[in-house]
Amino acid sequence: MTPRGVRIELDAVSKHYPGQRDPAVDNFSISIPAGEIVVFVGPSGCGKTTIMRMINRLIEPSSGTITIGGRDVGGQNPDQLRRQIGYSIQQAGLFPHQTVARNVATVPTLLGWNRAKTNARVDEMLELVGLDPGTFRRRYPRQLSGGQQQRVGVARALAADPPVLLMDEPFGAVDPITRGLLQDELLRLQAELRKTIVFVTHDFNEAVKLGDRIAVLGTGSRLLQYDTPAAVLAAPADDTVAGFVGADAGLKQLTLTRVEDVELDRCPTAAETDAVQPFRAEIAEREWPWGLILDAERRPLRWVSAEQLAHAASLREVGQPVTGTVALRASLQEALETLLTESTAHAAVTGDDGGYVGLIAIDTLVTHLAATRAESSRAAGKSAVSTGSAATSDAAHSPDETAPGDPI
Ligand code: ADP
Ligand code: MG
Repeated sequence: MTPRGVRIELDAVSKHYPGQRDPAVDNFSISIPAGEIVVFVGPSGCGKTTIMRMINRLIEPSSGTITIGGRDVGGQNPDQLRRQIGYSIQQAGLFPHQTVARNVATVPTLLGWNRAKTNARVDEMLELVGLDPGTFRRRYPRQLSGGQQQRVGVARALAADPPVLLMDEPFGAVDPITRGLLQDELLRLQAELRKTIVFVTHDFNEAVKLGDRIAVLGTGSRLLQYDTPAAVLAAPADDTVAGFVGADAGLKQLTLTRVEDVELDRCPTAAETDAVQPFRAEIAEREWPWGLILDAERRPLRWVSAEQLAHAASLREVGQPVTGTVALRASLQEALETLLTESTAHAAVTGDDGGYVGLIAIDTLVTHLAATRAESSRAAGKSAVSTGSAATSDAAHSPDETAPGDPI
């Protein structure tokens, strides 16, 4: 069985780089529950990378203690320690002169695994991150897209099945669409693996999407708030956090919900090879202003309006192309981006096979946001009168006391 995550504790950890006036990390404490994704979000230079590198002892703290699974990392051999901690960084950090397979095999090789076991593991990891081993094993990093390199980086970090994964802005260098896919992939993996993952980003949307909890850091790595994404969005601890959350906190709520969790609309559809007349009749009867034409695999092709159909002789040419589709696992935020590019104010939703399963409408998002707002103002009203809110910076240093869902 794969080792599940273990708890990580940082207690009064500081790092003073030689020659620097102020400490990069100043008396920082946090408790990271086993099996969760905790996302550190904060401005550039606030000490995020320094904290990560102290956890795996690439950097020694000036003071304070760090324990992983109850063991003080300071007393452990750094090489042995690092074999239990996957580390994935921006630009993937792959060895350019080694094949994908050798990159992924780095830690298993260090651990002295035999060739058969290592090879099997490499293939398993490549499949896990959605890369076909037959295609990618022998390639070099430069022969991969940015997104593929990040996938290999994640495969390498996971290869020795470490209970802990440190990910320092791993998706920072890829385009937004690929980033969205990699985030989906990470969530899918984590549902299976249940590692303890510390994930660093400066993108608040990414933090909201991925985090079981978010740690919002200020300068000198001050812990401004440590709570679930929903709680941070609903009640930012102070003005700095509120600034991070931004004026569009309401819209960010959309990243918390998946397309599969809301009710989809279903418009009239037809295959390209179908006759025009029955389709025209269905659209009129169901009082839709338009319908959707699908290909032989039921993938959405074109929107076609009732007016366009009035003059059409066949369904092969008519209508305007669907600009983008939304997966069932995508967030409502991604659905919003797609439907804003469609003149129909709807986005076509597809299942795992790419086939049409329904539509998501701008009205659905508006209704969802209104309901969420009502819900969170009720919740905020409640936590304001309860005794200890995890939103205060004192409580944030020992958040586990106020975390009922804690696995340990
Ligand atoms: P972040 O990852 O949040 O951007 P870092 O941990 O990289 O922040 O850096 C925190 C602070 O420490 C910054 O002011 C940075 O300039 C400083 N710093 C980082 N690495 C070193 C180093 N090796 N020597 C001196 N100062 C450093
Ligand atoms: Mg950094």
